Amino acid sequence: MSSGTINVAVENIFPLIKKFLYSDHEIFLRELISNATDATLKLKHLTNIGEAKVEYGNPIIEVKVDKDNQKLHIIDQGIGMTADEVKKYINEIAFSGAEEFIEKYKDKNGEDAGIIGHFGLGFYSSFMVANKVEIITKSYKDEPAAHWTCDGSPNYTLDKADKKDRGTEIILHISDDDTEFLEDARIRELLVKYNKFMPIPIKFGTRTETLPKPEDAKEDDPAPTQEVDDIINNPNPAWTKQPSDLEQEDYKKFYRELYPMQFEEPLFNIHLNVDYPFNLTGILYFPKLTNDLNIQKDRIQLYQNQVFVTDNVEGIVPEFLTMLRGVIDSPDIPLNVSRSYLQADGAVKKISSYITRKVADKLKSLFNDDREDFEAKWNDIKIVIEYGMLTEDKFFDKAQDFALYPTVDGSYFTFEELKEKIKDLQTDKDDKLVILYASDEEAQHSYIEAAKDKGYEVLLLNSPIVSHLLQKLESKNENTSFVRVDSDAIDSLIKKEDEAISKLSEEESEKLQIMLTEIIPAEKFSVKLEAMDSDASPFIITEPEFMRRMKEMQQTGGGMFGMGAMPEMYNLVVNTNHELVGEILNTKTQKKKEGFANPKSATQSEPSRSIKMLAGLMSRCTTPC
Ligand code: ADP
Repeated sequence: MSSGTINVAVENIFPLIKKFLYSDHEIFLRELISNATDATLKLKHLTNIGEAKVEYGNPIIEVKVDKDNQKLHIIDQGIGMTADEVKKYINEIAFSGAEEFIEKYKDKNGEDAGIIGHFGLGFYSSFMVANKVEIITKSYKDEPAAHWTCDGSPNYTLDKADKKDRGTEIILHISDDDTEFLEDARIRELLVKYNKFMPIPIKFGTRTETLPKPEDAKEDDPAPTQEVDDIINNPNPAWTKQPSDLEQEDYKKFYRELYPMQFEEPLFNIHLNVDYPFNLTGILYFPKLTNDLNIQKDRIQLYQNQVFVTDNVEGIVPEFLTMLRGVIDSPDIPLNVSRSYLQADGAVKKISSYITRKVADKLKSLFNDDREDFEAKWNDIKIVIEYGMLTEDKFFDKAQDFALYPTVDGSYFTFEELKEKIKDLQTDKDDKLVILYASDEEAQHSYIEAAKDKGYEVLLLNSPIVSHLLQKLESKNENTSFVRVDSDAIDSLIKKEDEAISKLSEEESEKLQIMLTEIIPAEKFSVKLEAMDSDASPFIITEPEFMRRMKEMQQTGGGMFGMGAMPEMYNLVVNTNHELVGEILNTKTQKKKEGFANPKSATQSEPSRSIKMLAGLMSRCTTPC
């Protein structure tokens, strides 16, 4: 028997380990299973190259809870360690690694705990939950087994052990504060969370399997059963395979494996596979997204060599793609650094732009291969694409090939196609292309119809971020403006020669203007007289495109000038050729004029009918109309 003191540099790091990252105590299990996996894969490698003259077989890792004795066992059949190796790897290398790690992060108070602490602490993280740890290990080399114990002080003992089979058993004596880790359900939860796709089978208990009844069994005979190892993980998840070895069904199956509670099928998937200039594999799925951007709980999961790291990929994946689902696995993402550092990391930036490019390429090929199907999916994928166009310039450029602009009549144009289609009718006198759109088919119905009557195309753009996107489209396409069908800018399209001849004389117009200005609140409406067809509406309320869009942009975040609340401002367009308008003008009696100024006291005369209509229209505008 020998004993010793682990290190001298730090008086005692164990209390620090214990204190470290309160919320992340659970990661000890992932660290130990990662070590067990590494040890097993190392043996595989050594047998492959003929270095280890032992049978590799079908090794597993076993996790056992011994609640009565307050112990947790993690057992592997990997390369094991000789006594000398325990001294070297556990007492020196692992310890100094843990020490360095703690030194670096002890003052961080768990800030950025989401990333820091994911990797690096290693074997000594077991002291976050155990007051004593034993290692019983037998090397694949022909040497006696070793037994190391450490009670959380820098002192350890190292003995011979009589373990016969190769591999390492780690025994944690769980502290009284951490007895949650003696609960089967808790351990199972952690194994599923962190180790669901690790490359070596992990056994946790057994389960009863029902076997087929033998041929000669009677009707009432119970089906025979047998106890089998309960293997927690799928050691060969889809993303580790070659795309050419996978069918569509395999991708769907893997989606269900990733998100067992998600019953909606994904729309399509993107297989990521790159080994230069960084290593990255993964599968991303486009889920069916609805307009309400609910905080998602099923998110992209980040793995490092099949070990789960986090499902918060912010900083690694461009923001617009965090709405996707799936997995990313890369050994090249530095995980023991803070998020802000991660975002500035060159390799991570490359990964992010690679993913963006792959997604754009996939969308383009889907569009090219089956446009009809792409159009059918547009409504479900547009938010991701539009958000990407808004936030990533490179993606914006690529999206020119597949971003669609649907019309209220159900046609889908690319931007180029749209320009070509409308350029004759919808270019105004300043040579500007005016693109009309509606955001709500029902509410803007009459405006849509009016525009269609004139032969204009009306787009249906109803994503929550549409006003921001239009702003960007206009800045990227000179001489193009988007105009909502119910906004005033649509007038710029109407050429002088199309205007109806006004029935009112100049004098009458002036009089009408004064009358109307007196009765409607000037701070909210400005009156515009316009000669239209006599059977067109007498009054139309429009809102300046600019004002409305700024307001919308404020509501959805990120207004342009950090301005305060935008004032409400509308135009009251009065059709001077409408019969009712003529009647207003000709109202002579004082009583009726009073009714004019005060719609409530108006009699049921003709003018009051038009005033009522006006009042109705204006009241609708107290909420954005
Ligand atoms: P890391 O795994 O990052 O190298 P650890 O502190 O977790 O650091 O472990 C230190 C070393 O101890 C490992 O590199 C390995 O050599 C050895 N080791 C730990 N666990 C095992 C195990 N289950 N089987 C064999 N060797 C192990």
